[in-house]
Amino acid sequence: MYLQIENIKKYYGQGDNKVEVLRGINCGVEKSEICVMLGPSGSGKSTLLNLIGGIENIDEGDIVVGDTELGKLSRKELALYRRNTLGFIFQFYHLVPNLTVKENIESGAYLSKNPISVEELMDTLGLTEHQNKYPNQLSGGQQQRTAIGRALAKNPSLLLCDEPTGALDYKTSKDILELLERINDKYKTTIIIVTHNNAIKDMAHRVMKLRDGKITKIETNSSRIKAK
Ligand code: ADP
Ligand code: ADP
Repeated sequence: MYLQIENIKKYYGQGDNKVEVLRGINCGVEKSEICVMLGPSGSGKSTLLNLIGGIENIDEGDIVVGDTELGKLSRKELALYRRNTLGFIFQFYHLVPNLTVKENIESGAYLSKNPISVEELMDTLGLTEHQNKYPNQLSGGQQQRTAIGRALAKNPSLLLCDEPTGALDYKTSKDILELLERINDKYKTTIIIVTHNNAIKDMAHRVMKLRDGKITKIETNSSRIKAK
């Protein structure tokens, strides 16, 4: 497995207020898979994604990405891991307002050893004609496509998406999910999507269901696996 999550536990709060929000998570994701983590609000999805993303500290267990054991990394090594290996997409885009589409995407390639050409990305994402616009001149879908471009510019091996269609209407959400599938196909990027939207599971090679900080079910989508 490319990504291995080994008996992860995570707590918030202290003393009497201490709550175990992840209660022993074990699972794995193969290279170049799309994995959807599904569960109701509060089930621990974002927390798990933030642990994989090296944004929060692991309390117990370990997460292994490729041959990197996240629990063993120093702060500095974690920052390098984030810079070299990961792309992030969020529900609310987080674009830099005073940079154009093209500049936002370029900013994502900063210090990358293996960047994807910005022109190619804009073409793939249908942004070429909008490249000189600023975020406040864009629709939600165009903003999310720009954010995807920025996340991909460094050619990350692992793309982490937290409710990527959470702020979009049905049609635009479909377009964004189709783009993520195309990117997975083209660049072999391993993609993890965290969502409470059941409809999104159809695009996954692997679906994990979370509830109350535990995995209740793991399904592999055999038709999607064979089609790969
Ligand atoms: P989901 O993404 O599935 O909605 P989260 O991972 O955001 O779930 O949250 C899981 C649980 O952890 C929730 O009960 C939430 O209230 C709690 N939680 C999340 N972040 C914090 C925090 N920084 N401090 C305390 N509790 C938190
Ligand atoms: P919420 O309960 O927060 O409204 P939903 O799970 O209902 O979230 O889904 C959010 C939006 O996603 C809704 O507008 C829904 O119609 C839409 N949606 C439904 N199916 C899909 C799909 N296949 N891809 C993307 N979005 C979808």
